[in-house]
Amino acid sequence: MHFIPEALDDYVVNHSENEPELLKELARETFQKILQPRMLSGHYQGRVLSLLSKLINPKNILEIGTYTGYSTLCLAEGLQKKGVIHTIDINEELADFQRKYFDKSPFGEQIIQYVGNALDIIPTLDIKFDLIFIDADKENYPNYFKMVIDKLNPGGILLSDNVLWSGKVIEPLQPDDLSTKAILEYNTLLKEDERIETILLPIRDGLTISRKLD
Ligand code: SAH
Ligand code: CA
Repeated sequence: MHFIPEALDDYVVNHSENEPELLKELARETFQKILQPRMLSGHYQGRVLSLLSKLINPKNILEIGTYTGYSTLCLAEGLQKKGVIHTIDINEELADFQRKYFDKSPFGEQIIQYVGNALDIIPTLDIKFDLIFIDADKENYPNYFKMVIDKLNPGGILLSDNVLWSGKVIEPLQPDDLSTKAILEYNTLLKEDERIETILLPIRDGLTISRKLD
């Protein structure tokens, strides 16, 4: 879904960084072989994630929702030389696909994959992060926030994807629509939590940047 007119969106993309060849290949294979390929971050959002990560230059990154590894590789571009990205996905069928591309990239040894429910895995990680990217099941966004906020370093950045949820955030809420309900709760949680400062950016499906106060 495009929130701005398609021609303008094309202009925006054409005046942003090109998509690296390896990521083009990863996207192509995802569209050929994997279910729900629209979940993949893609060219423009991927370059946004890459540039943000380079600005932050994190030592440790946590990603919740790996899918085929597109956003993982974009975020890894900003890692410090000995930095590590920890990425979690519940779908075990994706792990080999992810690893194939991680090992084709310069970041293979800096990426640690976890297969399982993020709700179970996050509490086992005794690590502080400079950058956290939340992009898994929307119903659990508020739970993920509560689990990760103490693991974010002062000055650290939390990125949250799909926070406009195809525009459903401003439509009447259907009682059985648990994803939208959770996203609404989540966006309010971020806005009101005094430990962070938050800006919701209308990039693609909505990307929020929250910075933990020092
Ligand atoms: N970040 C990826 C897209 C992630 S799509 C990109 O930008 O390219 C969302 C992913 O979250 C899916 O792969 C799904 O398997 C995973 N997921 C859903 N529920 C989860 C859970 N409870 N724990 C961990 N991963 C989960
Ligand atoms: Ca997403």
